[in-house]
Amino acid sequence: MKKIVRFSRLLKLSIVVAIFIALGVPALHLVATAVHDQNSITAVATEHVDDASRLSSARVQEVWQIPAAPQAAEQQLIELLARAQREKLSVSIAGARHSMGGHTIAADGIVIDMLPFKAMKLSADGRVLTVQAGALWDEVIPFLNEHGRSVAIMQSDSSFSVGGSLSANVHGWQAKRAPIASSVKSLRLLIADGRILHCSREENPELFSLALGGYGLFGIILEAQLWTVANQWYQVERYSIPAAHLAKVMHKVVDGDASVEMAYGRLRVAEQSFLEDAILTVYRNADGITQPLPTLEPVSLDPLKRTVFRSSVGSDYGKRLRWNLESAFGEKIGASIVSRNQLLNSPVALYSNRQDEQTDILHEYFVPADQLAEFLKQMGQIIPQHGLDLLNVTLRDVRKDSDTFLRYADQNMIAVVMLFSQARTEAAEESMQQMTAELIDASLKAGGRYYLPYRPHASVEQFLQAYPQAAEFAALKLTYDPNELFSNQFYLRYLRPLQAPSQ
Ligand SMILES: Cc1cc2nc3c(=O)[nH]c(=O)nc-3n(C[C@H](O)[C@H](O)[C@H](O)COP(=O)(O)OP(=O)(O)OC[C@H]3O[C@@H](n4cnc5c(N)ncnc54)[C@H](O)[C@@H]3O)c2cc1C
Repeated sequence: MKKIVRFSRLLKLSIVVAIFIALGVPALHLVATAVHDQNSITAVATEHVDDASRLSSARVQEVWQIPAAPQAAEQQLIELLARAQREKLSVSIAGARHSMGGHTIAADGIVIDMLPFKAMKLSADGRVLTVQAGALWDEVIPFLNEHGRSVAIMQSDSSFSVGGSLSANVHGWQAKRAPIASSVKSLRLLIADGRILHCSREENPELFSLALGGYGLFGIILEAQLWTVANQWYQVERYSIPAAHLAKVMHKVVDGDASVEMAYGRLRVAEQSFLEDAILTVYRNADGITQPLPTLEPVSLDPLKRTVFRSSVGSDYGKRLRWNLESAFGEKIGASIVSRNQLLNSPVALYSNRQDEQTDILHEYFVPADQLAEFLKQMGQIIPQHGLDLLNVTLRDVRKDSDTFLRYADQNMIAVVMLFSQARTEAAEESMQQMTAELIDASLKAGGRYYLPYRPHASVEQFLQAYPQAAEFAALKLTYDPNELFSNQFYLRYLRPLQAPSQ
């Protein structure tokens, strides 16, 4: 009898311990993360500007806010450029400043803050959006949603400006699509000599291809005409697969099905099975759903999703927890259908760092699909050697870009996007530089490219190898902007050295 009582006590205790391990440990981990997750980021020093890296700070003469009214803005901008030419000041252009290598900063120059310039209108048939370059996708999406339309190509988050997105030639989860330049009908561009030019594939086509993906070096994009697509219901489906099979499965599932509109892969980043497991999430056009599209929910910060993500910083337990939760439930628990606009309407604040001593740094590499497995293998060997904290890896389908001059997708590519947490110290910066150089070499060996809006850790030689058209791009810069009025840290680091010494 005693034995039975003891056994039943033991059983109860085991159940309590099991429940505590199953629910209490993760709950405690998440509560500790939430308590620690307070904003401690200090302001940029007076007369300085920085970007999303919080590692690019430089002193500038002036930050000039563009007026919202188009006539006033254009006239004053022309006068500003004339003054800068006279006073030999460099001009840089800033959108939401989510680039990470001083692309929006010309030291001791003038920074133009484009964000107030954000009017937009839609053509009568809804197919073409005319939008000023300072508008954020956060503002464009609700406007298009009112008209049953959606952005054709953009990043996986919505906190970016139209001008900054065009100037980096961004891409996102839109499957079977080339980068954003392919969705641009035309631009209005203010160039260094003060003229405003209409640029399209027919009119000023060279400037069109240089300004798209041109990092603000050929002029100020004032306004763009973008083709839109319909807002629709999407059916969500997830596949758990070995990472080594991802390219094959993506090809079969994405290419082989005309209803697939968006897709991305995510890799496991916990120590065990590091980069070996993948989840492919696919969004299929759900034409059969007859219920009306939902009202666009205001951008919310979903505290649980944020906490689960931030709990993975510096914690292998947190990385496993996040992977297990997302494998079991997906990123949005319970959501099997979603509207395209709701999916696109997602701010970076949902997961971005709030600690002063750390920063989140992105990397991105583009490799041909048949090289993906080998590139992932190389990543698996390179990353652990440098002691940096890899938080996230997503993979996207990016098709050949036939529109921009300085293009990264010169053939169909799989994009590998990585997010690291980095200490803001010289030692961490040095490790990041070494690791980036090795990852770039691995991507080049795979016949791939690296993405330009992030930290300036590539050597000039690596830049030239990845972008063989760069010397011609630099020469054309001087044709359109002989005094190098438009400048930034990216230009000075990678393109200025390519100019002839007499310049
Ligand atoms: C958290 C995060 C997630 C990201 N996700 C993605 C992604 O999914 N896909 C992707 O492709 N990229 C992604 N990026 C990179 C991002 O899309 C680019 O850095 C983009 O340029 C950011 O837009 P922005 O408005 O912040 O541009 P900014 O950083 O303000 O500017 C970028 C460049 O554009 C130039 N520029 C800005 N406005 C104009 C204008 N009106 N005329 C001419 N030049 C201008 C600037 O001078 C600068 O060279 C991500 C970045 C971060 C930080």
